[in-house]
Amino acid sequence: MINLELPKKLRASANQAHQVAAEIFRPVSRKYDLAEHEYPVELDTMAAMVEGLADSGTQDISGATGGRKAGSGAAAGDDHATELLGNSNGGNMSALLNALETCWGDVGLMLSIPYQGLGNAAIAAVATDEQLERFGKVWAAMAITEPSFGSDSAAVSTTAVLDGDEWVLNGTKIFVTAGSRATHIVVWASVDRSKGRAAIKSFVVPQDAPGLTVSRLEHKLGIKASDTAELRLEDCRIPADNILGSPEVNVEKGFAGVMQTFDNTRPLVAAMAIGVGRAALEELRTVLEQAGVEISYDTPANNQHAAAAEFLRLEADWEAAYLLSLRAAWMADNKKPNSLQASMAKAKAGRMGTDVTLKAVELAGPLGYSEHTLLEKWSRDSKILDIFEGTQQIQQLIVARRVLELTSAELK
Ligand SMILES: Cc1cc2nc3c(=O)[nH]c(=O)nc-3n(C[C@H](O)[C@H](O)[C@H](O)COP(=O)(O)OP(=O)(O)OC[C@H]3O[C@@H](n4cnc5c(N)ncnc54)[C@H](O)[C@@H]3O)c2cc1C
Repeated sequence: MINLELPKKLRASANQAHQVAAEIFRPVSRKYDLAEHEYPVELDTMAAMVEGLADSGTQDISGATGGRKAGSGAAAGDDHATELLGNSNGGNMSALLNALETCWGDVGLMLSIPYQGLGNAAIAAVATDEQLERFGKVWAAMAITEPSFGSDSAAVSTTAVLDGDEWVLNGTKIFVTAGSRATHIVVWASVDRSKGRAAIKSFVVPQDAPGLTVSRLEHKLGIKASDTAELRLEDCRIPADNILGSPEVNVEKGFAGVMQTFDNTRPLVAAMAIGVGRAALEELRTVLEQAGVEISYDTPANNQHAAAAEFLRLEADWEAAYLLSLRAAWMADNKKPNSLQASMAKAKAGRMGTDVTLKAVELAGPLGYSEHTLLEKWSRDSKILDIFEGTQQIQQLIVARRVLELTSAELK
């Protein structure tokens, strides 16, 4: 029998994240949407809380530290936990639920939570135990994209050359989320450009490393509370042991090592879309009910008000995205290869997020388009979730390759 109830321990941490979203994020959501690039000082309170939780060994708020740090999973004696989590450590599931809840509050602010960057998930996925000790408490952004590419991660042109006991990095990274606020940046660079994708490695670069500068901040459609930076690396020097994973170039293995981080981060981004999607559905329900539209679960959709029927369709779509994402995170927690499921979850949730939030604007009419509610903001915020960590089209390409058992050379 399938039991999809969440275990008690995860429920407690998700409730805590929801409280943060409701009490800290929502009240300042519009303020920072209108004040792009202004630092949300309210996040300092969160930083202190996150640090306190980390010190006490409790699960963190947004959970983006992912698989290895965030907790030990199912509470003893919790029957439901074993159904959903198996014998896992629960870190990915915890991260997913917390990302969902905090993005229910505000996606841009969630992306700005100190110590919870996507780079943290990358560190958690591939760092050695010694590196986890050193980098366990940093705030790490993720820098892959360059002016010459976005989707084609194998086209990294930033270089890393070993010079004595230091790596020397050169290149430009663009659209780095939390790139100016994070304490560290996980940078993808090639250690030997003649060896192609197998030579791409990730490096932990402290924000104050010599040769690293923030060259600009982007103005954006949505997630305006989040800083999106262009970074320049000019003879940027970092210690030799800041490389994540092995420095050896294994042409057979390709760049599976660095790509592995996506298996952890894609379900997280899916969860963000699920969070903002649920926010929009809740607001839309209120607006429809206030307009006298009854949403019934006992009457066939085709016998209901057209707006109610549309609401039921959106809710079903939301549920499908949620369940796909739970599966992807569960597989990551249980050390099962989940690239296919992570991409399915991200594709479905990314599309659902934009569809649900835009439909909510449409169904709420002028109220949805105005700034009287946050619906119009959520429709702007959700779009990025279908773009970064791999666009909708790229996720579909990955799913097709996996299902058809074709390589990236065979299906482009
Ligand atoms: C606000 C924001 C924050 C970001 N944060 C980060 C970050 O923290 N770190 C980071 O490294 N990057 C980040 N990015 C970059 C993001 O990951 C890229 O924008 C994304 O991967 C797409 O790359 P691109 O923009 O170069 O588009 P392109 O790769 O040029 O794609 C353009 C269009 O073509 C489609 N396309 C491309 N290839 C194919 C194909 N083979 N088949 C079918 N369609 C295809 C794409 O889906 C897309 O619709 C961020 C971007 C934004 C806007």
